[in-house]
Amino acid sequence: MPKRRPDHIPIRTCAVCRQVRPKRAMTRFVRGADGAIVIDRTGKAAGRGTYVCEDPACREPNQLAAGIQRALSAQVAPGTLNLEEIHAPS
Ligand SMILES: [Zn+2]
Repeated sequence: MPKRRPDHIPIRTCAVCRQVRPKRAMTRFVRGADGAIVIDRTGKAAGRGTYVCEDPACREPNQLAAGIQRALSAQVAPGTLNLEEIHAPS
């Protein structure tokens, strides 16, 4: 019997609210080699990554920055993350 379930859905924990959600419903952020936090649109960027869900409360700039800083141990300068570029899959 194979242990891998064919209907397996990858899930991740939101860096802000800590809720577990399907990975594809989330936005990935990555800390690149230069230490800058960027939005990873492909989900495949190299570097330490974290996920934020599509809840508007988690995308509020201060909450978002705090969650990512906590998750990635990196400083997020105000205005660095352009939330208008974040489009969660609908
Ligand atoms: Zn969240």
